[in-house]
Amino acid sequence: MLPPTHRAAVLYAPQDLRVEERRTPEPGPGQVLVRIAAVGLCGSDLHYYAHGENGPNVLRTPTVLGHEAAGVIAATGPGADRHAVGTPVAIEPAHPCGRCARCRRGAYNQCPHGTCYGSPPTDGALAAYVLAPEDFVHPLPDGLDLRHGALIEPLAVAVHAVRRAGVRPGDRVLVTGAGPIGLLVLQVARAAGADRIEVSDVSPQRLRYAEKWGATRTVDPATAQVVDAAPGMLADPDGFDVALDCSGNAGALVGALRALRPGGTVAVVGNPATVATELPLAWMQRQEITLVTAFRYANDFPAAIALAATGRVRLAELVTSCHPLDASDAALRAALTDPAQLKVLVTPETGPAGGNSQGAHHG
Ligand SMILES: [Zn+2]
Ligand SMILES: [Zn+2]
Repeated sequence: MLPPTHRAAVLYAPQDLRVEERRTPEPGPGQVLVRIAAVGLCGSDLHYYAHGENGPNVLRTPTVLGHEAAGVIAATGPGADRHAVGTPVAIEPAHPCGRCARCRRGAYNQCPHGTCYGSPPTDGALAAYVLAPEDFVHPLPDGLDLRHGALIEPLAVAVHAVRRAGVRPGDRVLVTGAGPIGLLVLQVARAAGADRIEVSDVSPQRLRYAEKWGATRTVDPATAQVVDAAPGMLADPDGFDVALDCSGNAGALVGALRALRPGGTVAVVGNPATVATELPLAWMQRQEITLVTAFRYANDFPAAIALAATGRVRLAELVTSCHPLDASDAALRAALTDPAQLKVLVTPETGPAGGNSQGAHHG
């Protein structure tokens, strides 16, 4: 039986987060109700929490944050017959109109009429229950921990980025920025056949993760510290075939461009910190450099789930702490201020008294 009300973490204003009782909604036609097991906190959640805005989007009305979520189908609406109650699922949080030209072309991530969880005024998944269109929940295989199911969304971002960048077997790849997305891009690029991957970041801690997950070489541009797992393998005067900037830092993007071989490709993956970035266009033209951008994902969740299910991408080590829903404020603060955190999870099914590093376990 569904409880008549459930708890949700609502952001009223910057750093004013309140956990409230809300009416548990009935799923409408084509919808399912998901009992949330885990929600990953992401850069956009932190922007709203800290400043009340994220790029052009501004918090004007109290909104539930959170868009990286997994849980179990708790109820289905009229005509929603794709998933049985009890099915574990990852939720695809951006819902397009499904009718415009871009949607019909399959590029539904570019739909101008869509909504996304946790993007005000659309409520997100930092709640015990959430509604979703049945076509935007993806069944998870048995044995995949639902806490890791919450990481399928950022993994889908990485899958989309690697597809857009066109990484091919044998490619030499550069990843700038070793946050959660960069570390997932590293693993997906390796799964796509790249065997020589350099990762750069100014955090030595994050570079240690990159080494653990198969980076051929790590570079700290701040200290010029280089760790070579396979000396000589990257020593090619021509440069990298593909670079993916996952830092959002304009300097890193231009540095990545300059490190490409002639004819190489650079992909903009991280959210640029500034509206305009100066690029060495004349040099790029002479080198026939291809610049691509990647935004969210479109039809990338199934591949992300397959990569996680087969262990070709490891998600467990990405989770650095779990917090109960009532401690969402502490979770956001930890993600915002503690540089040792990689992916902070809120796990609504853990009791209100729970502390750090606890999580609901589902077989
Ligand atoms: Zn995210
Ligand atoms: Zn559309």
